[in-house]
Amino acid sequence: LPEEFIAALPVMERLEEHGYEAYFVGGSVRDIMMDHPIHDVDIASSAYPEEVQAIFPQTIDLGIEHGTVLVLFNEEHYEITTFRTESEYQDYRRPDHVTFVRSLSEDLKRRDFRMNALAMNRNGEVIDLFDGLEDIKNHRICAVGEATERFHEDALRMMRAVRFASQLDFTIEEKTYAAIQEHHCLLEKISVERIQVEWLKLMAGVAPKKGLRPFIDTLCYESCPALKEQKEAVEQLYTVVNGPLTEEETWLTLAHFAQWSEKETSKVLRAWKCSNAVRQKVCHTLPYLELRLERALTSWELYQLGAENLELLLSVYHLLQPEEETTEKERYEQLAIHQIADLAVDGKLLMQELGEKPGPWLGKVLHFLQQQVVNTNVENTKEALLAATKQWLEEQ
Ligand code: ATP
Ligand code: MG
Repeated sequence: LPEEFIAALPVMERLEEHGYEAYFVGGSVRDIMMDHPIHDVDIASSAYPEEVQAIFPQTIDLGIEHGTVLVLFNEEHYEITTFRTESEYQDYRRPDHVTFVRSLSEDLKRRDFRMNALAMNRNGEVIDLFDGLEDIKNHRICAVGEATERFHEDALRMMRAVRFASQLDFTIEEKTYAAIQEHHCLLEKISVERIQVEWLKLMAGVAPKKGLRPFIDTLCYESCPALKEQKEAVEQLYTVVNGPLTEEETWLTLAHFAQWSEKETSKVLRAWKCSNAVRQKVCHTLPYLELRLERALTSWELYQLGAENLELLLSVYHLLQPEEETTEKERYEQLAIHQIADLAVDGKLLMQELGEKPGPWLGKVLHFLQQQVVNTNVENTKEALLAATKQWLEEQ
């Protein structure tokens, strides 16, 4: 057993002492069998949520109606989910209600893929009712049961299939693949938020080409926001990626290939429900990326771009132009100032020294001074900046 599981053993034992069954399930068991590091330990149990709450003093309700309780134990937290079936599906989305059951096999049967339908007891014995181990050995993603039926129950599973292909460097099994190809349209019923999670995990995977290929060929992309008309751009994205991309790198690269304006990019990222921070960063960086593809950036452009956006720009630039070298990072570091606060004067000091009242001139002169310092026309000292300000005022 890995140490993360050993730490959870007292939790399992307590459940069993009270007469319930408990198993490690889901991604963590799959990851152990692949010798991958595990991130979250999920426990499935025959105990109903109220029963879990009754035997552990510290719990947090993560959605009792779905059967999940977070147990705090020895400084760690464990998600304990009651065995369940998902009997009633509406609109191809997650079921509104779940039915709790007392049998592990029922719980494993409702899981998406055979590799994810493994369970492990506290002795480290694997319960493999659906040939999940065989799939892991063959690097294969195969739906539990009838793929078509499973995708009708929850269409998100199709996006999960392509995401796992990228994340694990696996291949989607034939029947599962054919079912995605045939039913990709069902994805349109799925909330953007859930699709976004899988899309970004796909792009952040170790083998993004492995996920993008089926994403494109099964036409899943057509059922994603704003990508219906973007086959060409997604193909180009496929051509350039070779390893994990961040959310911002993904959108910036795609915006470049789709030739979206800042405004269009903003609209697309809104449609995908991206955070304001991501949207602003990508939109701000896009025009500078296009500039950089034509020529080196000037000092002033580097200054306006800022360190974080420059980092994003360069990582995408190197993806697009792997042969080209850039000096922007070094040149950015050598700039005389990196933000307005680095100026040797501020608005207050300028007003005091010049005996002027606040007004629009102040913003203009500070802009001018930053430009002069960044372009090394004026030294960043109080004296030089005051002299430059006086001259600027005279010229107005
Ligand atoms: P990751 O390494 O990304 O966390 P994971 O396999 O743990 O991968 P989760 O989304 O955390 O994926 O889900 C945990 C488990 O719950 C899965 O392994 C699978 O057994 C089950 N599961 C999750 N989502 C679905 C779904 N939409 N349909 C069926 N089973 C699902
Ligand atoms: Mg997980």
